[in-house]
Amino acid sequence: MKYYHPMLKRLLGDILTDLGPLEGDYRAANLKGDIRQGILYMLVASLGILTLFNADVLPPQARPPFTWATAAGYAVVTVLFGALLYNTTKVRVYDRLMTAWLLLTLLFRIVLDFITSGSSPLAYLDILLIFITYLASPLSFRNTAAMAVGFSVSLLYINHFIQTAAGSPAVPIFAHLTAHLLGWLAHLQMQTHRRKSFQAFIDEKDAKEMVAFLANIDPLTKSLTRRQFLNIAESEFRRFQRYQRPLSIMILDADHFKAVNDTHGHHAGDLVLRSLSLTALEQKRAQDTFGRLGGEEFGLLMPETTLDKARVVAERIRLVWEASPVKLDGELIRSTISIGLAQAEPTDRSLEDLLRRADQMLYKAKANGRNRVES
Ligand code: GH3
Ligand code: MG
Ligand code: MG
Repeated sequence: MKYYHPMLKRLLGDILTDLGPLEGDYRAANLKGDIRQGILYMLVASLGILTLFNADVLPPQARPPFTWATAAGYAVVTVLFGALLYNTTKVRVYDRLMTAWLLLTLLFRIVLDFITSGSSPLAYLDILLIFITYLASPLSFRNTAAMAVGFSVSLLYINHFIQTAAGSPAVPIFAHLTAHLLGWLAHLQMQTHRRKSFQAFIDEKDAKEMVAFLANIDPLTKSLTRRQFLNIAESEFRRFQRYQRPLSIMILDADHFKAVNDTHGHHAGDLVLRSLSLTALEQKRAQDTFGRLGGEEFGLLMPETTLDKARVVAERIRLVWEASPVKLDGELIRSTISIGLAQAEPTDRSLEDLLRRADQMLYKAKANGRNRVES
């Protein structure tokens, strides 16, 4: 068991590619292909069964009057189902239509058997229905197999207990088993291939998104790059201009950072910058955008925030930072920050105007002794 187990697991894993939470996305992404396939199977199956009907039926003079009407009815209903399927945009509707049509086809096949004379060699074409079920059924494998087996039993029952002229039951049973085996393999082959391509598609998409995401992140401080920060600030500013919702911005600069570098080394300076950025990222609210404007200077964009509320956020960041010295080689490095705040005003012609005012406030904070917020 020990040696077989991993092999068995790999084999089963290959057969039953499990998409987990992606299952719904997979079905939705493949719906168009499913619809095309479903309509093709409908066409093949209904033509096969109608051919069977024509070959199997009583000689023309002995046919009951409703025989052709039944066939025509089945053809019309199939076309109707095809049209409904073609216009479907929901996976669940597709599943129900397809299942209903398969059951209807079985029903028609049973009715057909009641009104025909029986023993035509073409009767073995019944297995077409089994095979089609495996290919066309939208249900999970277990439900599909249950439906196909149900079809088999119904058809075999008709052939061998109602129609006595059907001959030895061994031949059709063998034919049905073969159809199940082939159908099962085809179902696995098709589903596995489609699921794997979908998984590969998702993986590639994820990788691309990750690359795009990383391109906008400053590697040292893990905050947004200046370019990305300004992009977002630009669109928030346009939103402010259009809807006049409050928008505040804060510029945050490390105090005497040259001294940190000079005393502890550039590497320690890097560490402090990273720690400062993480502190601000922790303290900011989810809707705020934090980015590195350059060197030891950062920006925090606060949509839906008035100057008063922004001041609370700024004070909090300043105090938390002041109280969190960075530990390096057993030594505690203490530093402070100065913050300039500004709120967008109707007189601001562009984002630059707003940034300039925040910058002036930062300058004022520096001039007034640092480690403080000015607005
Ligand atoms: P002030 O309080 O007036 O802001 O003084 P300051 O020393 O912080 O200001 P200044 O702009 O003169 O110096 C900024 C320093 O920040 C200079 C530069 O070496 C340092 N710095 C900028 N970027 C980095 C970085 O990525 N890593 C490190 N370690 N230091 C940096
Ligand atoms: Mg500085
Ligand atoms: Mg600076």
